[in-house]
Amino acid sequence: MVQESKSKVAIVGGGPAGCVCAYFLQKDFDVTIFEARSPLATLLPTGGGRCNIAHAEYDFRALAANYPRGEKFLFSVFSKFGTAETVDFFRSIGVDTYVQDDLRIFPLSNSAVDVRDKLLNSLNRVKIIEQRVDSIIEEGSGFSLVCGKSIHKFNKVVIATGGHSGFSLAENLGHKIIPPRPSLCGLKTKENFVDLSGVSFKNITAEVNGKKYSGDFMFTHTGVTGPVIYYISSIMAREKFPYYIYVNFTGDFDFQSVLNENPHKNIKNLLSDYVPKSFAEFILLHNGVNADEKCHKINGVMRDKILKQLRNFEIEAVGTRPDGEVVTSGGVDLKEINPKTMESNIIPGVYFCGEVLDIDGFCGGFNLQNCWSTAFIAAQGIMLSQ
Ligand SMILES: Cc1cc2nc3c(=O)[nH]c(=O)nc-3n(C[C@H](O)[C@H](O)[C@H](O)COP(=O)(O)OP(=O)(O)OC[C@H]3O[C@@H](n4cnc5c(N)ncnc54)[C@H](O)[C@@H]3O)c2cc1C
Repeated sequence: MVQESKSKVAIVGGGPAGCVCAYFLQKDFDVTIFEARSPLATLLPTGGGRCNIAHAEYDFRALAANYPRGEKFLFSVFSKFGTAETVDFFRSIGVDTYVQDDLRIFPLSNSAVDVRDKLLNSLNRVKIIEQRVDSIIEEGSGFSLVCGKSIHKFNKVVIATGGHSGFSLAENLGHKIIPPRPSLCGLKTKENFVDLSGVSFKNITAEVNGKKYSGDFMFTHTGVTGPVIYYISSIMAREKFPYYIYVNFTGDFDFQSVLNENPHKNIKNLLSDYVPKSFAEFILLHNGVNADEKCHKINGVMRDKILKQLRNFEIEAVGTRPDGEVVTSGGVDLKEINPKTMESNIIPGVYFCGEVLDIDGFCGGFNLQNCWSTAFIAAQGIMLSQ
């Protein structure tokens, strides 16, 4: 009996998106992943090595609200493959998960290495070629992938090259790329905070463009970082620098009453009840107030200056710095992609998934969720096209 040969699918990029897409296709298609480096190497640093797989938000609209870019596009994607489907998928390949207090979902093993190994082991019918794809050429009803001197022919191609290096393949096929900007990262500041480097605060509030965000915060030798800053860097990813952040380090309390109640305490020690001592010394020094001044000597002008620093501390953000999750805001323009199949509206037979798309979410498992979900939809799109 002559066996009908399977249709050939190339997946360019063996990151989280490419590998999961391959998983869902391997039963019905002849699947090859092309990976320039090592498959799933990009999964290893995720979640500080623990791999924050997803977020325990099971309503697809509420889940999509965590993506400053891509929210509406993801409605139909998440309605078919959201958090519950992700957890089931990982369980099916031997990765049990748990939900942390802050709703982040992690593997029970707390190990990104474990997730990588289980995912790679599940790709038993997929061929992996560790080679960079230099270009994709449309030819009749298929595609030629050029890797150095070798050329490989396929019926369909999935581009899952992530946010850093893969935009040129899509651009050469005629896709528009929304210019990439870093998101979920620390910020460089105009002010010099080198003396405060490492000083951190729990759950402060920071305001940008009239909106308030909360979370932990830290000064660095070139600026500021921490979850609240990652959040702001995401919200502001498409805005121009400089922009201004106003930080409330203490919340509201009646400062004058506290001064009155502690007339003989020195101001530095009093402030140290509310903020780290080094920060208290910093703001007193930079506002011309003697750190050893007794509280009863703090006049109205001094009081207001100190209060402004405690509750409305101005920071001028002038750029990004490479710490944090660092995802790319920008990528293949979603207007050119069908959200029901992930197929290109420009070149039929080409599909996209993961961070190569102009989709990015907040910290908390949302960026990997984008990979798992769009990978599943791309695989389904290819199956439906047969
Ligand atoms: C430090 C850090 C921690 C993070 N932690 C989390 C987390 O806990 N939870 C979360 O949700 N998100 C996290 N993220 C974000 C998450 O890692 C990314 O969103 C995700 O890896 C994107 O997956 P991807 O498959 O789309 O792209 P990538 O992971 O970038 O993979 C793309 C792959 O394609 C390959 N490639 C590119 N071009 C070519 C080519 N021409 N030919 C062949 N191969 C090519 C690359 O080598 C790469 O392996 C973190 C990011 C960082 C940097």
